[in-house]
Amino acid sequence: MRAYSSFKEIVRLVKKADSIGLVPTMGSLHDGHLSIIKKALIKDEIVIVSIYVNPKQFNDPGDLKKYPRNLKDDLKKLKSFNNIIVYAPNDRDVYKEEEEAQKYNFGKITQIMEGKSRPGHFDGVATVVEKLLSMFNPNNAYFGEKDFQQLLIIKKLVKKIKLDVNIIGCETIRDSAGLAMSSRNKFLSKSERKSAIQIIKLLKRAKKIYNTSSTIDIKSDILKKAKAIDNLKIEYFEIINVSEFLKDIKEVRAFIACKIGNTRLIDNIRI
Ligand code: AMP
Repeated sequence: MRAYSSFKEIVRLVKKADSIGLVPTMGSLHDGHLSIIKKALIKDEIVIVSIYVNPKQFNDPGDLKKYPRNLKDDLKKLKSFNNIIVYAPNDRDVYKEEEEAQKYNFGKITQIMEGKSRPGHFDGVATVVEKLLSMFNPNNAYFGEKDFQQLLIIKKLVKKIKLDVNIIGCETIRDSAGLAMSSRNKFLSKSERKSAIQIIKLLKRAKKIYNTSSTIDIKSDILKKAKAIDNLKIEYFEIINVSEFLKDIKEVRAFIACKIGNTRLIDNIRI
C-alpha cells in the first residue's frame, strides 16, 4: 500500500494495470470499507482507495467540521494490503478556488429521503465521484448498499455522462448486534448505541409485515415502534420500489434515517 495526494502520480503508476478498481471513501475506515476493498481486490489488479472528506456534499457546516478524520489510522489499517494505492488529496487538489458543486438533474430520486433531508448533498457527491472517475478511469467502481440512494445516483451519473465503468454495489456490513458500520458510530454513547441497534429491528419488522400490510400501515406501525425507543428521532422511514427510479433494479427496500442524540444514522434493507 502506498499513499499519494497527486492523482497524476497514481495515473502514471496504474497505467499498465489490466484492471483498475476505485473505492471512494471519506476515511475513518471500518470493516464496511474494508469489505468493499477486499471485494475490489478479487476483481481488479490494482485498487485505488480514495480517502477524502468531500466538503461539497455536506449541507451542514457543523457536520462537516465534526466529521471524523483519521488518516494515520486509516493508512495503518490498509498497510497489510497489497495492490492498493491510496489517494488522499487536500481540498485544493480536488477543487479550484471558489469552485461550486455541479448541478445535476437526476430526477425524482433526488427529491426524496437523503435528497430531501440534505439539499445539495447528491450534487456534491456526484461532483466528487465524477472527478474521481475521470481522474482514474477505473474499470470498476465500488459503492456500499448502506448508502443505497447514493448507489442509485452514481449508476444514473455514469449513464448520464456516458462513462465506461461498472458500478458495483456491495452488501452492508453490520456489527454483531446488527448495527450497520458507519464512521459516525463512534459518536454514540453507550446508551445511544443501545438505541441504535434497534434500527435494524425496525427494518426487519417492516420486512416481516410487508406481505400482509399496506405501505401506510407499515409506516405507521414502524413510526409508533420508533417513538418508544429512547433518544431516537425518525427523520424518514420509507418503503421504496427501487425499479421506479432505476428500471434494472427490481427490488423493494425499506429505508430509515434517524437522529440518535446528535448523531444522524441511515440504514436500509431489501424486503
Ligand atoms: P463513506 O466513507 O461513509 O463515504 O463510505 C464510503 C463507501 O463505503 C460508500 O460507498 C459507502 O456506501 C460504503 N459503506 C459505508 N458503510 C458501509 C457498511 N457498513 N457496509 C458496506 N459499505 C459501507
